[in-house]
Amino acid sequence: RARSGGEPEFLQAVEEVARDVLTVEKAHAEFAAARVLEQLTEPDLLAQFRVVWEDDGGATRINRGWRVQMSNAIGPYKGGLRFHPSVTPSVLKFLAFEQCFKNALTGLPLGGAKGGADFDPSGCSDREIMRFCQAFMAHLAPFIGPDLDVPAGDINVGQREIGWLFGTYKRKRGVFDGALTGKGPSFGGSALRVQATGYGLIYFVCAMLARRSAELDGKRVAISGKGNVSTHAAEKAIEMGARVVCLSDTSGTLHAPDGMRQDAVEWVRAQKRSGGQVADPPAALGLQFRDGEGPWGIEADIALPCATQNEVGPEAARAIAESGVTLLAEGANMPLTSEAVEILDRAGIVQAPGKAANAGGVAVSGLEMSQNAEGRFLSREEVDAALRKIMDGIHDTVIAEAESAGDCRRGANVAGYRHLARAISSYGIV
Ligand code: NDP
Repeated sequence: RARSGGEPEFLQAVEEVARDVLTVEKAHAEFAAARVLEQLTEPDLLAQFRVVWEDDGGATRINRGWRVQMSNAIGPYKGGLRFHPSVTPSVLKFLAFEQCFKNALTGLPLGGAKGGADFDPSGCSDREIMRFCQAFMAHLAPFIGPDLDVPAGDINVGQREIGWLFGTYKRKRGVFDGALTGKGPSFGGSALRVQATGYGLIYFVCAMLARRSAELDGKRVAISGKGNVSTHAAEKAIEMGARVVCLSDTSGTLHAPDGMRQDAVEWVRAQKRSGGQVADPPAALGLQFRDGEGPWGIEADIALPCATQNEVGPEAARAIAESGVTLLAEGANMPLTSEAVEILDRAGIVQAPGKAANAGGVAVSGLEMSQNAEGRFLSREEVDAALRKIMDGIHDTVIAEAESAGDCRRGANVAGYRHLARAISSYGIV
């Protein structure tokens, strides 16, 4: 705590895990001797670099870029890149820490990392974003590689940006390899990577419902955000017969009392792509825009916060508790404040933490890495089947620990920790 003063998001993520795993650490002499949790809270490497680029007016612009390599105990570093003005070392350390546990839960050999920049692409032209990506990769390239560290996308870094980043990596390093995931299918990308986090989230929810002898068909699903995770979760939920009652962004919430149609989701996606907001939807889509309002409080059975960290505070948690929701699964990373978690716990709402429920993206990234290494390409059907199997597997792993240890959050923390601790305590003092 003393070493991480001024890093509130990182402390919040570590404290949530520490609460659950310290008893496990104490109960295993080899884990305690290796001080596993402490090792996991100190990055192997935290690189910070200046990113200088030129805007369309010819002016010099300067941003900060980072890569946090948290742990490669069970595989090469792996985690996304986020471009957003709110990015700080604290945010990236929390995301890299969470990523270690999430990647362990997938059962794939993937370490934990995260990176990004305090760059704000909103209001930038496509060419400016491309130039920023190129300048960013010029600094990142020496730190990454297929057996070393394999970044992917995150907020404001989609397949288009990955293409620009990969183009510069290839040119700088003079190699064509799988140093990035989330690539386009024409240059080594996996089928379904773009959809994987949102689809995987819905598969996880289906596994939770199945355990309660219920199904998604006919359920009302409230979703926050309008990005990659939100829109693909909405798409899959609609396909499976659910009624998606809302999506949102920082301008407000789109309410669809009778459930959104696929063309409405497409429109939201197009708004995101063009840098627009969700205000003023075409009348034909049957959506109501609630200016400046959040999505929580709209009547629903299932809540999926899919926008960003700490988007659900105490007030939103109370609104969720009163809206009919009985199950919440996190599409975003750490979308609930600690207080919100407690409020929902007290209300008896079953919660699936992001490190389990949103692991579908990194799981398909892991499949992309193995496809690149083997020089082959799996079909959409093959990837979809593998994704569903991985999400079911994560659910079973979490539940196995939850039954002995209390709840889903604790189950995910303990299961991820055990996997990491077995590896870390095997290496001796290094
Ligand atoms: P995107 O950039 O595609 O979309 C994020 C969207 O969230 C933006 O459009 C933004 O709206 C909206 N948003 C931000 N803050 C709020 C808020 N307070 N209320 C409502 N909307 C908000 O990001 P992703 O979908 O990729 O990522 C979303 C979350 O999922 C993040 O936490 C990310 O770490 C996590 N995640 C993503 C994975 C992936 O594969 N992409 C994998 C695993 C987790 P606006 O346009 O108004 O700013």
